[in-house]
Amino acid sequence: MTQLYIDGEWVRAAAGGRRDVINPFDASVITSVEEADASDVDRAVRAAKRAFERGDWSGSPTRHRADLLHRVHDLLLRDQEEIARTETLDTGKTLTEARIDVEDVANAFRYFAEIADKDGGRVVDVGPDVFSRVVHQPVGVCALIAPWNYPMLQASWKVAPALAAGNTFVLKPSETTPLSTIAMIRLIEEAGAPPGVANLVLGPGATVGAALSAHPEVDLVSFTGGLATGRRIMEAAAPDVKNIALELGGKNPNIVFEDADFAAAVDYALDAAFLHSGQVCSAGSRLIVQDTVHDRFVERLAARAQAIRLGNGLDPQTESGPLSSAAHREKVESYLQIADAEGARLVTGGRRPDDPELARGYFLLPTIYADCDRSMRIVQEEVFGPVVTVERFRTEEEAVELANDTRYGLAGGVWTSDASRAQRVAIRLRHGTVWINDFHPYVPQAEWGGFGRSGIGRELGPTGLREYQEAKHIYQNLRPAPSGWFKG
Ligand code: NAD
Repeated sequence: MTQLYIDGEWVRAAAGGRRDVINPFDASVITSVEEADASDVDRAVRAAKRAFERGDWSGSPTRHRADLLHRVHDLLLRDQEEIARTETLDTGKTLTEARIDVEDVANAFRYFAEIADKDGGRVVDVGPDVFSRVVHQPVGVCALIAPWNYPMLQASWKVAPALAAGNTFVLKPSETTPLSTIAMIRLIEEAGAPPGVANLVLGPGATVGAALSAHPEVDLVSFTGGLATGRRIMEAAAPDVKNIALELGGKNPNIVFEDADFAAAVDYALDAAFLHSGQVCSAGSRLIVQDTVHDRFVERLAARAQAIRLGNGLDPQTESGPLSSAAHREKVESYLQIADAEGARLVTGGRRPDDPELARGYFLLPTIYADCDRSMRIVQEEVFGPVVTVERFRTEEEAVELANDTRYGLAGGVWTSDASRAQRVAIRLRHGTVWINDFHPYVPQAEWGGFGRSGIGRELGPTGLREYQEAKHIYQNLRPAPSGWFKG
Protein backbone atom coordinates (compact mmCIF):
# COMPACT_ATOMS: atom_id res chain seq x y z
CA MET A 1 0.00 0.00 0.00
CA THR A 2 2.14 2.84 -1.22
CA GLN A 3 -0.72 4.89 -2.57
CA LEU A 4 -2.66 7.84 -1.26
CA TYR A 5 -5.43 7.25 1.26
CA ILE A 6 -8.46 9.40 0.53
CA ASP A 7 -12.05 9.01 1.72
CA GLY A 8 -11.42 5.54 3.13
CA GLU A 9 -9.71 4.12 0.05
CA TRP A 10 -6.15 3.59 -1.19
CA VAL A 11 -6.10 5.44 -4.50
CA ARG A 12 -3.74 6.30 -7.35
CA ALA A 13 -2.36 9.81 -7.63
CA ALA A 14 -4.32 11.73 -10.27
CA ALA A 15 -1.30 12.55 -12.40
CA GLY A 16 0.36 9.16 -11.81
CA GLY A 17 3.43 10.62 -10.06
CA ARG A 18 5.87 8.27 -8.31
CA ARG A 19 8.97 8.70 -6.14
CA ASP A 20 11.68 6.28 -5.09
CA VAL A 21 12.25 6.01 -1.35
CA ILE A 22 15.97 5.75 -0.59
CA ASN A 23 17.77 3.91 2.22
CA PRO A 24 20.36 6.43 3.49
CA PHE A 25 22.67 3.63 4.68
CA ASP A 26 23.59 2.56 1.13
CA ALA A 27 21.56 4.75 -1.23
CA SER A 28 19.54 1.71 -2.40
CA VAL A 29 15.88 2.05 -3.43
CA ILE A 30 13.58 0.57 -0.75
CA THR A 31 10.37 1.00 -2.73
CA SER A 32 8.53 3.65 -4.66
CA VAL A 33 5.37 5.48 -3.66
CA GLU A 34 2.63 7.42 -5.40
CA GLU A 35 3.16 11.15 -5.49
CA ALA A 36 0.20 13.52 -5.26
CA ASP A 37 -0.41 16.88 -6.88
CA ALA A 38 -2.67 19.80 -5.95
CA SER A 39 -5.75 18.05 -7.35
CA ASP A 40 -5.21 15.07 -5.01
CA VAL A 41 -4.82 17.47 -2.11
CA ASP A 42 -8.12 19.09 -3.05
CA ARG A 43 -9.79 15.68 -3.22
CA ALA A 44 -8.44 14.75 0.22
CA VAL A 45 -9.42 18.03 1.86
CA ARG A 46 -12.93 17.83 0.44
CA ALA A 47 -13.27 14.24 1.71
CA ALA A 48 -12.13 15.40 5.16
CA LYS A 49 -14.62 18.28 5.04
CA ARG A 50 -17.53 16.00 4.08
CA ALA A 51 -16.56 13.54 6.83
CA PHE A 52 -16.41 16.35 9.37
CA GLU A 53 -19.82 17.66 8.37
CA ARG A 54 -21.35 14.17 8.38
CA GLY A 55 -20.85 14.21 12.13
CA ASP A 56 -20.49 10.45 12.71
CA TRP A 57 -16.96 11.16 13.95
CA SER A 58 -16.89 14.85 14.89
CA GLY A 59 -20.17 14.57 16.76
CA SER A 60 -19.59 11.15 18.27
CA PRO A 61 -19.19 10.67 22.03
CA THR A 62 -15.57 11.09 23.11
CA ARG A 63 -15.63 7.57 24.54
CA HIS A 64 -16.16 6.25 21.01
CA ARG A 65 -13.16 8.19 19.72
CA ALA A 66 -11.04 7.13 22.68
CA ASP A 67 -11.85 3.48 21.94
CA LEU A 68 -10.49 3.87 18.41
CA LEU A 69 -7.28 5.45 19.71
CA HIS A 70 -6.84 2.57 22.15
CA ARG A 71 -7.22 0.12 19.26
CA VAL A 72 -4.54 1.98 17.29
CA HIS A 73 -2.28 1.77 20.36
CA ASP A 74 -2.72 -2.00 20.50
CA LEU A 75 -2.18 -2.46 16.76
CA LEU A 76 1.02 -0.41 16.88
CA LEU A 77 2.42 -2.71 19.55
CA ARG A 78 1.31 -5.74 17.54
CA ASP A 79 3.27 -4.48 14.51
CA GLN A 80 6.09 -2.79 16.46
CA GLU A 81 8.94 -4.82 15.03
CA GLU A 82 7.85 -4.54 11.42
CA ILE A 83 7.25 -0.80 11.65
CA ALA A 84 10.54 -0.24 13.48
CA ARG A 85 12.44 -2.03 10.69
CA THR A 86 10.67 0.12 8.12
CA GLU A 87 11.62 3.26 10.04
CA THR A 88 15.25 2.14 10.24
CA LEU A 89 15.42 1.46 6.49
CA ASP A 90 13.81 4.79 5.74
CA THR A 91 15.69 7.06 8.17
CA GLY A 92 18.95 5.20 8.89
CA LYS A 93 18.38 5.37 12.66
CA THR A 94 19.23 2.33 14.76
CA LEU A 95 16.62 -0.37 15.20
CA THR A 96 16.81 0.10 18.97
CA GLU A 97 15.83 3.73 18.59
CA ALA A 98 13.14 2.92 16.03
CA ARG A 99 11.58 0.39 18.42
CA ILE A 100 11.45 3.07 21.11
CA ASP A 101 9.86 5.47 18.60
CA VAL A 102 7.03 3.01 17.87
CA GLU A 103 6.45 2.52 21.59
CA ASP A 104 6.36 6.31 22.05
CA VAL A 105 3.86 6.61 19.21
CA ALA A 106 1.65 3.98 20.86
CA ASN A 107 1.95 5.87 24.15
CA ALA A 108 0.85 9.10 22.48
CA PHE A 109 -2.31 7.38 21.18
CA ARG A 110 -3.00 5.94 24.63
CA TYR A 111 -2.43 9.28 26.38
CA PHE A 112 -4.84 11.19 24.15
CA ALA A 113 -7.37 8.34 24.41
CA GLU A 114 -7.18 8.65 28.18
CA ILE A 115 -7.62 12.41 28.40
CA ALA A 116 -10.18 12.73 25.57
CA ASP A 117 -13.21 11.69 27.59
CA LYS A 118 -12.17 13.40 30.81
CA ASP A 119 -13.05 16.78 29.39
CA GLY A 120 -16.71 17.55 29.93
CA GLY A 121 -16.18 21.30 29.71
CA ARG A 122 -16.45 23.87 32.51
CA VAL A 123 -19.51 25.25 34.22
CA VAL A 124 -19.26 28.98 34.92
CA ASP A 125 -21.17 30.21 37.94
CA VAL A 126 -23.16 33.27 36.80
CA GLY A 127 -26.05 32.96 39.25
CA PRO A 128 -29.16 30.83 39.79
CA ASP A 129 -30.99 31.94 36.63
CA VAL A 130 -28.23 31.19 34.16
CA PHE A 131 -26.67 27.99 32.98
CA SER A 132 -23.29 28.95 31.52
CA ARG A 133 -20.66 26.52 30.35
CA VAL A 134 -17.54 26.42 28.21
CA VAL A 135 -17.16 23.42 25.92
CA HIS A 136 -14.31 22.43 23.64
CA GLN A 137 -15.20 21.37 20.12
CA PRO A 138 -13.16 20.11 17.18
CA VAL A 139 -11.61 22.80 14.98
CA GLY A 140 -12.59 21.07 11.73
CA VAL A 141 -10.34 19.91 8.90
CA CYS A 142 -6.69 19.74 9.98
CA ALA A 143 -3.69 19.81 7.64
CA LEU A 144 -0.90 17.91 9.38
CA ILE A 145 2.61 18.26 7.93
CA ALA A 146 5.52 16.27 9.39
CA PRO A 147 9.33 16.13 9.00
CA TRP A 148 11.73 13.28 8.18
CA ASN A 149 13.74 12.88 11.36
CA TYR A 150 11.05 11.21 13.53
CA PRO A 151 8.52 10.58 10.77
CA MET A 152 5.87 8.58 12.56
CA LEU A 153 6.49 10.02 16.02
CA GLN A 154 6.06 13.64 14.94
CA ALA A 155 2.99 12.72 12.90
CA SER A 156 1.44 10.89 15.87
CA TRP A 157 1.73 13.95 18.11
CA LYS A 158 -0.69 15.60 15.67
CA VAL A 159 -2.84 12.69 14.53
CA ALA A 160 -3.70 11.35 18.01
CA PRO A 161 -4.94 14.65 19.53
CA ALA A 162 -6.63 15.68 16.26
CA LEU A 163 -8.65 12.44 16.31
CA ALA A 164 -9.27 12.56 20.05
CA ALA A 165 -10.79 16.03 19.67
CA GLY A 166 -13.09 14.88 16.83
CA ASN A 167 -11.38 16.50 13.85
CA THR A 168 -10.79 15.04 10.43
CA PHE A 169 -7.38 15.43 8.84
CA VAL A 170 -5.16 15.28 5.79
CA LEU A 171 -1.64 14.20 6.70
CA LYS A 172 1.47 14.82 4.63
CA PRO A 173 4.68 13.12 5.75
CA SER A 174 8.08 14.15 4.45
CA GLU A 175 8.61 13.02 0.88
CA THR A 176 11.89 11.37 1.88
CA THR A 177 10.52 9.19 4.72
CA PRO A 178 6.83 8.33 4.12
CA LEU A 179 6.85 4.58 4.89
CA SER A 180 6.13 4.38 8.64
CA THR A 181 3.40 7.01 8.25
CA ILE A 182 1.74 4.88 5.60
CA ALA A 183 1.85 2.00 8.10
CA MET A 184 0.25 4.16 10.79
CA ILE A 185 -2.61 5.19 8.49
CA ARG A 186 -3.15 1.54 7.61
CA LEU A 187 -3.60 0.81 11.33
CA ILE A 188 -6.01 3.72 11.78
CA GLU A 189 -8.04 2.23 8.92
CA GLU A 190 -7.90 -1.22 10.55
CA ALA A 191 -9.01 0.30 13.85
CA GLY A 192 -12.21 1.43 12.14
CA ALA A 193 -11.95 5.16 11.38
CA PRO A 194 -14.93 6.17 9.21
CA PRO A 195 -14.16 7.12 5.58
CA GLY A 196 -12.73 10.61 5.14
CA VAL A 197 -11.70 11.03 8.79
CA ALA A 198 -8.04 10.15 8.16
CA ASN A 199 -6.51 11.03 4.78
CA LEU A 200 -2.95 10.71 3.54
CA VAL A 201 -1.27 12.57 0.69
CA LEU A 202 2.34 11.95 -0.31
CA GLY A 203 4.66 14.33 -2.12
CA PRO A 204 7.01 17.27 -1.85
CA GLY A 205 6.51 20.28 0.37
CA ALA A 206 6.77 22.89 -2.36
CA THR A 207 3.74 21.51 -4.21
CA VAL A 208 1.70 19.15 -2.00
CA GLY A 209 2.55 20.80 1.34
CA ALA A 210 1.98 24.28 -0.07
CA ALA A 211 -1.39 23.31 -1.63
CA LEU A 212 -2.48 21.74 1.65
CA SER A 213 -1.52 24.64 3.90
CA ALA A 214 -3.17 27.16 1.57
CA HIS A 215 -6.40 25.20 0.95
CA PRO A 216 -9.39 27.39 1.89
CA GLU A 217 -11.33 24.46 3.42
CA VAL A 218 -8.55 23.71 5.90
CA ASP A 219 -9.28 25.09 9.38
CA LEU A 220 -5.96 24.36 11.10
CA VAL A 221 -2.41 23.73 9.93
CA SER A 222 -0.14 21.90 12.34
CA PHE A 223 3.43 21.78 11.09
CA THR A 224 6.71 20.35 12.35
CA GLY A 225 9.81 21.21 10.38
CA GLY A 226 12.31 23.95 9.67
CA LEU A 227 12.04 27.67 10.43
CA ALA A 228 12.01 28.78 6.79
CA THR A 229 9.12 26.42 5.97
CA GLY A 230 7.31 27.52 9.14
CA ARG A 231 7.32 31.10 7.84
CA ARG A 232 5.85 29.94 4.51
CA ILE A 233 3.12 28.04 6.35
CA MET A 234 2.22 31.19 8.30
CA GLU A 235 1.94 33.13 5.05
CA ALA A 236 -0.14 30.40 3.42
CA ALA A 237 -2.48 30.27 6.42
CA ALA A 238 -2.88 34.04 6.71
CA PRO A 239 -5.52 34.80 4.02
CA ASP A 240 -8.09 32.52 5.68
CA VAL A 241 -6.83 33.23 9.22
CA LYS A 242 -6.40 29.51 9.80
CA ASN A 243 -5.35 28.24 13.19
CA ILE A 244 -1.69 27.29 13.16
CA ALA A 245 0.64 25.28 15.36
CA LEU A 246 4.34 25.32 14.52
CA GLU A 247 7.07 23.09 15.94
CA LEU A 248 10.26 24.43 14.41
CA GLY A 249 13.98 24.09 14.92
CA GLY A 250 16.30 24.52 17.86
CA LYS A 251 19.87 25.32 18.85
CA ASN A 252 19.79 23.87 22.26
CA PRO A 253 22.24 24.76 25.04
CA ASN A 254 23.59 22.13 27.38
CA ILE A 255 25.19 23.83 30.40
CA VAL A 256 27.76 21.91 32.48
CA PHE A 257 28.78 23.36 35.86
CA GLU A 258 32.00 22.27 37.56
CA ASP A 259 30.08 20.47 40.34
CA ALA A 260 28.21 18.20 37.89
CA ASP A 261 28.67 14.43 37.95
CA PHE A 262 31.47 14.45 35.38
CA ALA A 263 31.02 10.97 33.89
CA ALA A 264 27.25 11.32 33.61
CA ALA A 265 27.51 14.80 32.09
CA VAL A 266 29.98 13.60 29.44
CA ASP A 267 27.85 10.57 28.67
CA TYR A 268 24.66 12.59 28.25
CA ALA A 269 26.45 15.35 26.31
CA LEU A 270 27.32 12.63 23.82
CA ASP A 271 23.67 11.48 23.56
CA ALA A 272 22.48 15.06 23.44
CA ALA A 273 24.67 15.90 20.46
CA PHE A 274 24.96 12.66 18.51
CA LEU A 275 21.75 10.67 19.00
CA HIS A 276 20.32 9.98 15.50
CA SER A 277 23.42 11.74 14.12
CA GLY A 278 22.26 15.00 15.68
CA GLN A 279 19.13 15.09 13.51
CA VAL A 280 16.97 15.89 16.50
CA CYS A 281 15.18 19.21 16.94
CA SER A 282 16.16 19.22 20.62
CA ALA A 283 19.76 18.07 20.05
CA GLY A 284 22.17 19.49 22.62
CA SER A 285 24.32 20.94 19.87
CA ARG A 286 25.59 23.88 21.92
CA LEU A 287 27.68 22.87 24.92
CA ILE A 288 28.41 25.57 27.49
CA VAL A 289 31.02 24.33 29.96
CA GLN A 290 32.46 25.98 33.09
CA ASP A 291 36.09 26.94 32.48
CA THR A 292 37.47 24.95 35.45
CA VAL A 293 36.38 21.63 33.90
CA HIS A 294 36.28 22.70 30.26
CA ASP A 295 39.52 21.18 28.93
CA ARG A 296 39.09 17.84 30.68
CA PHE A 297 35.46 17.70 29.51
CA VAL A 298 36.26 18.39 25.86
CA GLU A 299 39.09 15.85 25.90
CA ARG A 300 36.87 13.12 27.34
CA LEU A 301 33.96 13.97 25.05
CA ALA A 302 36.22 13.76 21.99
CA ALA A 303 37.56 10.36 23.03
CA ARG A 304 34.01 9.06 23.47
CA ALA A 305 32.83 10.62 20.18
CA GLN A 306 35.66 8.92 18.29
CA ALA A 307 34.50 5.57 19.64
CA ILE A 308 30.91 5.87 18.33
CA ARG A 309 30.28 2.95 15.98
CA LEU A 310 28.71 4.14 12.74
CA GLY A 311 26.93 1.63 10.54
CA ASN A 312 23.75 0.03 9.31
CA GLY A 313 20.88 0.76 11.69
CA LEU A 314 19.75 -2.86 11.38
CA ASP A 315 23.09 -4.11 12.78
CA PRO A 316 22.82 -4.43 16.58
CA GLN A 317 26.46 -3.25 16.91
CA THR A 318 25.68 0.09 15.28
CA GLU A 319 25.43 3.07 17.60
CA SER A 320 24.67 5.76 15.03
CA GLY A 321 23.46 5.74 11.43
CA PRO A 322 23.92 8.03 8.44
CA LEU A 323 22.42 11.42 7.72
CA SER A 324 19.05 11.23 6.05
CA SER A 325 19.93 12.17 2.48
CA ALA A 326 22.76 13.24 0.22
CA ALA A 327 21.35 16.77 0.07
CA HIS A 328 21.12 17.00 3.83
CA ARG A 329 24.72 15.82 4.31
CA GLU A 330 25.84 18.53 1.91
CA LYS A 331 23.98 21.12 3.94
CA VAL A 332 25.65 19.90 7.15
CA GLU A 333 29.06 19.91 5.43
CA SER A 334 28.56 23.51 4.36
CA TYR A 335 28.42 24.35 8.07
CA LEU A 336 31.82 22.69 8.59
CA GLN A 337 33.27 25.20 6.16
CA ILE A 338 31.50 28.02 7.95
CA ALA A 339 32.92 26.85 11.30
CA ASP A 340 36.44 26.69 9.87
CA ALA A 341 36.14 30.15 8.35
CA GLU A 342 34.86 31.54 11.66
CA GLY A 343 37.90 30.22 13.52
CA ALA A 344 36.22 27.48 15.56
CA ARG A 345 38.80 24.84 16.62
CA LEU A 346 38.08 21.39 15.17
CA VAL A 347 38.66 18.86 17.97
CA THR A 348 37.47 15.73 16.17
CA GLY A 349 35.47 14.69 13.10
CA GLY A 350 34.76 17.28 10.44
CA ARG A 351 34.78 14.81 7.55
CA ARG A 352 33.27 11.63 6.13
CA PRO A 353 34.46 8.30 7.59
CA ASP A 354 37.19 6.33 5.75
CA ASP A 355 35.51 2.94 6.25
CA PRO A 356 34.72 1.61 2.73
CA GLU A 357 31.67 -0.22 4.14
CA LEU A 358 30.09 3.17 4.75
CA ALA A 359 31.10 4.78 1.47
CA ARG A 360 27.72 4.51 -0.25
CA GLY A 361 25.78 5.90 2.74
CA TYR A 362 25.44 9.53 3.82
CA PHE A 363 27.76 9.31 6.81
CA LEU A 364 29.64 12.05 8.62
CA LEU A 365 31.92 11.61 11.64
CA PRO A 366 30.76 12.97 15.01
CA THR A 367 32.26 16.45 15.08
CA ILE A 368 33.27 18.73 17.95
CA TYR A 369 34.31 22.37 17.67
CA ALA A 370 35.89 24.11 20.69
CA ASP A 371 36.88 27.76 21.27
CA CYS A 372 33.52 28.85 19.94
CA ASP A 373 31.78 32.08 20.79
CA ARG A 374 28.20 33.22 20.58
CA SER A 375 28.74 35.48 17.58
CA MET A 376 29.52 32.53 15.30
CA ARG A 377 26.94 31.17 12.88
CA ILE A 378 28.00 27.63 13.83
CA VAL A 379 26.87 28.49 17.38
CA GLN A 380 23.64 30.28 16.43
CA GLU A 381 22.23 28.32 13.48
CA GLU A 382 20.65 24.88 13.50
CA VAL A 383 23.01 22.46 11.72
CA PHE A 384 20.86 19.37 12.28
CA GLY A 385 23.78 16.99 12.05
CA PRO A 386 26.45 15.37 14.29
CA VAL A 387 28.12 18.67 15.12
CA VAL A 388 28.49 20.19 18.59
CA THR A 389 30.11 23.50 19.53
CA VAL A 390 31.70 24.21 22.92
CA GLU A 391 31.78 27.60 24.68
CA ARG A 392 33.33 28.41 28.09
CA PHE A 393 31.76 30.31 30.97
CA ARG A 394 32.93 31.43 34.40
CA THR A 395 29.81 32.39 36.39
CA GLU A 396 26.22 31.21 36.64
CA GLU A 397 25.07 34.58 35.33
CA GLU A 398 27.25 34.21 32.27
CA ALA A 399 26.00 30.65 31.62
CA VAL A 400 22.36 31.80 31.64
CA GLU A 401 23.14 34.76 29.42
CA LEU A 402 24.88 32.56 26.84
CA ALA A 403 22.15 29.91 26.88
CA ASN A 404 19.47 32.55 26.32
CA ASP A 405 21.42 34.25 23.54
CA THR A 406 19.59 32.45 20.74
CA ARG A 407 16.66 33.17 18.44
CA TYR A 408 15.41 29.67 19.13
CA GLY A 409 14.12 28.32 22.44
CA LEU A 410 13.16 24.69 22.18
CA ALA A 411 15.11 22.87 24.90
CA GLY A 412 18.14 23.06 27.16
CA GLY A 413 20.07 21.05 29.73
CA VAL A 414 21.65 21.99 33.07
CA TRP A 415 24.23 19.80 34.80
CA THR A 416 25.00 20.55 38.45
CA SER A 417 24.84 18.86 41.84
CA ASP A 418 23.48 22.06 43.42
CA ALA A 419 19.68 21.58 43.43
CA SER A 420 18.97 25.21 44.19
CA ARG A 421 21.15 26.43 41.33
CA ALA A 422 19.57 23.86 39.01
CA GLN A 423 16.07 25.22 39.69
CA ARG A 424 17.23 28.86 39.53
CA VAL A 425 18.81 28.35 36.13
CA ALA A 426 15.90 26.23 34.82
CA ILE A 427 13.43 29.01 35.62
CA ARG A 428 15.56 31.63 33.88
CA LEU A 429 16.15 29.68 30.66
CA ARG A 430 13.91 30.86 27.80
CA HIS A 431 13.36 27.37 26.41
CA GLY A 432 10.25 25.16 26.20
CA THR A 433 11.83 22.17 27.95
CA VAL A 434 14.65 22.20 30.51
CA TRP A 435 16.35 18.99 31.59
CA ILE A 436 18.31 18.93 34.83
CA ASN A 437 21.02 16.26 35.01
CA ASP A 438 19.47 14.56 31.99
CA PHE A 439 18.91 15.20 28.31
CA HIS A 440 16.23 14.28 25.78
CA PRO A 441 13.45 12.55 27.75
CA TYR A 442 9.90 13.64 26.97
CA VAL A 443 6.62 12.20 28.16
CA PRO A 444 3.20 12.48 26.53
CA GLN A 445 1.75 14.03 29.71
CA ALA A 446 4.02 17.10 29.48
CA GLU A 447 3.87 19.89 26.90
CA TRP A 448 6.48 20.02 24.14
CA GLY A 449 7.28 23.13 22.11
CA GLY A 450 9.40 26.20 21.86
CA PHE A 451 9.92 29.81 22.84
CA GLY A 452 10.99 32.34 20.22
CA ARG A 453 11.55 31.03 16.72
CA SER A 454 11.20 27.43 17.83
CA GLY A 455 7.50 27.73 17.21
CA ILE A 456 3.96 28.59 18.17
CA GLY A 457 1.80 26.38 20.38
CA ARG A 458 2.54 23.12 22.15
CA GLU A 459 2.22 19.42 21.40
CA LEU A 460 1.53 16.71 23.98
CA GLY A 461 0.04 17.31 27.42
CA PRO A 462 -3.42 18.86 27.88
CA THR A 463 -2.34 21.85 25.75
CA GLY A 464 -1.57 19.43 22.91
CA LEU A 465 -5.26 18.49 22.84
CA ARG A 466 -6.44 22.10 23.13
CA GLU A 467 -4.55 22.99 19.92
CA TYR A 468 -7.16 20.91 18.08
CA GLN A 469 -10.19 22.42 19.80
CA GLU A 470 -12.19 25.62 19.67
CA ALA A 471 -13.56 26.90 22.96
CA LYS A 472 -17.25 27.76 22.91
CA HIS A 473 -19.21 29.56 25.63
CA ILE A 474 -22.85 28.48 25.90
CA TYR A 475 -24.92 30.89 28.00
CA GLN A 476 -28.50 29.97 28.77
CA ASN A 477 -30.90 32.35 30.46
CA LEU A 478 -33.14 30.06 32.49
CA ARG A 479 -35.75 32.77 33.26
CA PRO A 480 -36.17 34.88 30.11
CA ALA A 481 -38.18 38.07 30.67
CA PRO A 482 -38.19 41.52 29.01
CA SER A 483 -35.13 43.52 30.07
CA GLY A 484 -36.63 47.01 29.53
CA TRP A 485 -33.30 48.40 28.27
CA PHE A 486 -34.96 50.27 25.38
CA LYS A 487 -37.97 52.19 26.57
CA GLY A 488 -39.89 52.69 23.27
P1 NAD B 1 11.21 20.94 6.35
O1 NAD B 1 10.69 22.24 6.86
O2 NAD B 1 12.08 20.96 5.15
O3 NAD B 1 10.01 19.96 5.98
C1 NAD B 1 9.03 19.58 6.91
C2 NAD B 1 7.77 19.19 6.18
O4 NAD B 1 7.26 20.35 5.52
C3 NAD B 1 7.99 18.13 5.09
O5 NAD B 1 6.86 17.29 5.04
C4 NAD B 1 8.07 18.98 3.83
O6 NAD B 1 7.71 18.29 2.66
C5 NAD B 1 7.06 20.07 4.14
N1 NAD B 1 7.23 21.31 3.40
C6 NAD B 1 8.37 21.81 2.83
N2 NAD B 1 8.10 22.98 2.21
C7 NAD B 1 6.79 23.24 2.40
C8 NAD B 1 5.92 24.31 2.03
N3 NAD B 1 6.35 25.35 1.31
N4 NAD B 1 4.64 24.26 2.42
C9 NAD B 1 4.17 23.23 3.16
N5 NAD B 1 4.94 22.19 3.53
C10 NAD B 1 6.23 22.19 3.17
O7 NAD B 1 11.89 20.25 7.58
P2 NAD B 1 12.67 18.85 7.59
O8 NAD B 1 13.98 19.10 6.94
O9 NAD B 1 11.78 17.77 7.08
O10 NAD B 1 12.84 18.61 9.15
C11 NAD B 1 13.89 19.15 9.88
C12 NAD B 1 13.42 20.35 10.67
O11 NAD B 1 12.33 19.98 11.50
C13 NAD B 1 14.49 20.85 11.60
O12 NAD B 1 14.54 22.25 11.55
C14 NAD B 1 14.01 20.38 12.97
O13 NAD B 1 14.48 21.14 14.04
C15 NAD B 1 12.54 20.48 12.82
N6 NAD B 1 11.86 19.63 13.81
C16 NAD B 1 11.25 20.23 14.88
C17 NAD B 1 10.64 19.46 15.87
C18 NAD B 1 9.98 20.08 17.07
O14 NAD B 1 9.32 19.37 17.82
N7 NAD B 1 10.10 21.38 17.31
C19 NAD B 1 10.66 18.07 15.74
C20 NAD B 1 11.28 17.49 14.63
C21 NAD B 1 11.87 18.29 13.67
